[in-house]
Amino acid sequence: MPMKKMSLRRRFEVTVRGFRILRQYCPGLAQGRALCELVSTLQPFAAVWFSAQIINELSALCRMKTIVLYAACVVCLQFVCAVLRGILDSVCSEKEAQMWCYFGKIFADKQMSMDYADLENAELRYQKQQAEENLFMFGNGLAQLVWGTSTLVRAAASSTAAIVMTYSLFAAKSGNAVMDSPVWSVVFLGGIALGARCSAKAYIKENDVFVEWCKDTVWFNRAYYFFGKELYMNMDRAKDVRIYGQNAVAKRALDGMSKKDAADAAAIFQMAVCPALARALMGFANAACYLFVAAKAFYGAFGVGSIVQYVAVLSRLGDGLQELAFVLADNAVYCGYLSAMFDYLDIPNKKYEGTIPVEKRSFCDGGDYDYEIEFRNVSFKYPETEQYVLKNISLKFQVGKRFAIVGMNGSGKTTFVKLLCRLYDPSEGVILLNGIDIRKYAYQEYLSIVAVVFQDFKLFSFSLAQNVAAGTAYDAERVAASLKQVGFGARLMQMPNGIETSLYQDFESGGIEPSGGEAQKIALARAVYKNAPFIILDEPTAALDPLAEAEIYEAFQEIVGGRTAVYISHRLSSCKFCDQILVFHEGKVVQQGTHSELVAQADGKYVELWNAQARYYV
Ligand code: ADP
Repeated sequence: MPMKKMSLRRRFEVTVRGFRILRQYCPGLAQGRALCELVSTLQPFAAVWFSAQIINELSALCRMKTIVLYAACVVCLQFVCAVLRGILDSVCSEKEAQMWCYFGKIFADKQMSMDYADLENAELRYQKQQAEENLFMFGNGLAQLVWGTSTLVRAAASSTAAIVMTYSLFAAKSGNAVMDSPVWSVVFLGGIALGARCSAKAYIKENDVFVEWCKDTVWFNRAYYFFGKELYMNMDRAKDVRIYGQNAVAKRALDGMSKKDAADAAAIFQMAVCPALARALMGFANAACYLFVAAKAFYGAFGVGSIVQYVAVLSRLGDGLQELAFVLADNAVYCGYLSAMFDYLDIPNKKYEGTIPVEKRSFCDGGDYDYEIEFRNVSFKYPETEQYVLKNISLKFQVGKRFAIVGMNGSGKTTFVKLLCRLYDPSEGVILLNGIDIRKYAYQEYLSIVAVVFQDFKLFSFSLAQNVAAGTAYDAERVAASLKQVGFGARLMQMPNGIETSLYQDFESGGIEPSGGEAQKIALARAVYKNAPFIILDEPTAALDPLAEAEIYEAFQEIVGGRTAVYISHRLSSCKFCDQILVFHEGKVVQQGTHSELVAQADGKYVELWNAQARYYV
């Protein structure tokens, strides 16, 4: 948890890493803010100093030339600082407005690089949500570092300038032994420093209360997000919510959540009281300082101009030291949040990332596709579960052949495909590509040899071409050819912007909303476009009407070409054209053969499934 005590050394390391991440994702932001703050902080000190000199000159020698020179310096300084501040401020504000998107990218990058198996790990999801919520909801961690940079520069610059400009207050001799005693400098500076320290402590206390309060909000926000937003706003859920009246459940949950209000009010009161007390203490310290300046001036230690200087600067010294103490206290706080975020970013990938390159072969039609995949005694259970979903599977995909996988729901077909795509590694046994364990291949290279259409495939709110090519750069002719191959040609002709037509209306008002069947064809075209030697289709025609389905089967030979195809379907009639049919039952391959071989085994699972379906067609 962020609030655990951290050594200074560790805080330094965490802060430095925070700045490194800022430099990587939002370059120039922290530096720009620091420079802007330096100019803003020093400008009033310079103005006060010149003003004091002018008043001193007016009340003593009254040399016109000197007064004009001081006045000109003030005007020029103000002008230059105002211009510089204006430029820096607008550049930094723009960067700061965008920083949240860049922070989002930090999490997106991590999420993309994580093991697929970890994406559904509840503990890691909680950790991610907590880190995200701290940052995006409260600005804790990285955002505090950005804001803290400004505060640090302001505090350091104003404290230094104030100490330099108040030195003469204590050094100047008034002729009164009591007033000139060096003890005063220790008393006042000590008093101001003590006040600043108390303020900082109050801030820490306020933050501790806040952290306790936030612990509950992670759960609260997840629930609120789900019930308040997901359930009502998500179009995918809207049908079920209405038909089954699920809004009643949501209302009960939201009513329960509002009971938290009383506890929240107590925490908020506590958070407000601590800093108010600290501010009162600082007020007393400042008042005592003013009295001292007045007394010393009374005994003739300095002129009127210097009174202006000391009075203006002493309050800033208090503010500066207070802010410096805040910054140090704040650093302890955001280092806690940063370190919690780093814990999430540092979650190691357990999956072995191989290094062997996949031997490059031509994937183009007419090329060489001889990649052979073999499952050898593969068993698998999902992470954090005890039950084997696949048991001792051994089979070989001969190059260029068409395989069908059939079986009842939950028999392990999709899981088998997930292993084939290395989304998970087998719990036991090994999967081999051309005789070598697939874990030894560089992961991205291995992925390049498989194209999959998952049952629950997703398309994106980009153009049709970008969806098919799965990227922003594409070969327009190949995109169109892939779409035609899967029977999307006629629909493509009707589209005013052809392959440039946007899918869905998230970004483009003219975007099309593909039907289930159309979406499935586009997903198929994406797999065809990838031109990988293995093509895996999980229920690829489930959303298609019978005519479109027949069309796909007729074009299947052409779509698959010389590739090895793995085809999962519940419609057994559609598996007849495959060279091999693998029958899955309770995580095992219980039968294997051609359609005619399998129907000949009267007591086999295949016949049972076949007959169950066939009787509706008789
Ligand atoms: P099929 O594709 O044959 O319908 P699946 O491979 O999807 O079967 O599922 C096989 C078994 O694995 C089912 O019992 C299912 O509940 C379980 N299962 C699937 N996905 C997960 C998961 N992510 N975590 C835990 N169990 C899962």
